[in-house]
Amino acid sequence: DWSSDVCSSDLLLWRARRRPPLRRFDLPLLLLAQVCTLGGVLGETFLFGSQFSSMTQLWVTVFAAGFLPRRLVWAQQLLGLASVTLMVWVRTWYGLNPPHLWVVEVIVTALPVLLTGVAVAYFRGVAEQEAWALEQAGRTDPLTGLGNRRALFETFGARQSGAAGRTGLVMLDIDHFKRYNDALGHPAGDACLQQVAAVLQRSCHRHTDLAARYGGEEFALLLLDTDLRGAHEVARRIHTALELASIPHPDHPLGRVTLSLGLASAASADLKGAADAALYRAKAQGRSTTAVAQ
Ligand code: GH3
Ligand code: MG
Ligand code: MG
Repeated sequence: DWSSDVCSSDLLLWRARRRPPLRRFDLPLLLLAQVCTLGGVLGETFLFGSQFSSMTQLWVTVFAAGFLPRRLVWAQQLLGLASVTLMVWVRTWYGLNPPHLWVVEVIVTALPVLLTGVAVAYFRGVAEQEAWALEQAGRTDPLTGLGNRRALFETFGARQSGAAGRTGLVMLDIDHFKRYNDALGHPAGDACLQQVAAVLQRSCHRHTDLAARYGGEEFALLLLDTDLRGAHEVARRIHTALELASIPHPDHPLGRVTLSLGLASAASADLKGAADAALYRAKAQGRSTTAVAQ
């Protein structure tokens, strides 16, 4: 279940996302736009006795609904209503419309402005959701539902440029997988990859752990704030879980699917290279085992 917090990369991705700059100018900008609009409209009334520019209130509404944080959108709707009320009140006071229709005038003028804000905010929400779904799809391996290579590198990159802390990397490769395909066929091989992925996901207990399919029958686990001992613990858990799952392999000395693991921690400069070299040694040592980077 990709939505569960186990092994989910969502939090990491959310953390890695770059926040738009200049957020602290949102409120001053909104207030400035609102004051300019109101000032312009009232200025026109006092100078020329008309209010043709009252439609500029729409600009402020569209700006807030389209670009500002959600809580400011609602604040702006209230500001907009207050602004329109003041405009209409001054218009009435100036004798530009009949006094007994004052409230009706406010409603008629404010309603299109408020509804425009709601509509823009709604379409923006839909667009943001679609963008998020696309972003997620671009980081997900379609066969296994794990993260893909891009998710791995982006998370790792965000980590490198972010806070300090030990990072563990485990590279995993299915043993004798070519034989598995040859014996049972490619569709069965695909199903096997899914089962192995599920085992990996179950074996990551922290929500900051990222399980990814690196490519083919090779997987990777990125373990944040984890030293070599912690990574070793996860590796042990994976071997045990795989033994419990006991996925039959007709052409394997053990009769079941196994993984070889290469393990490295942030102590080494080239984490990926170190984990790969360790994985290579795990294979040389007879497979279904874990080797640690030296
Ligand atoms: P070793 O124990 O040394 O890792 O042997 P191996 O057979 O697993 O290694 P090798 O790299 O020679 O073979 C990998 C095989 O994985 C070859 C390819 O057919 C299979 N494979 C790669 N991607 C997929 C996939 O998406 N689906 C299926 N079914 N098989 C795949
Ligand atoms: Mg391989
Ligand atoms: Mg293999």
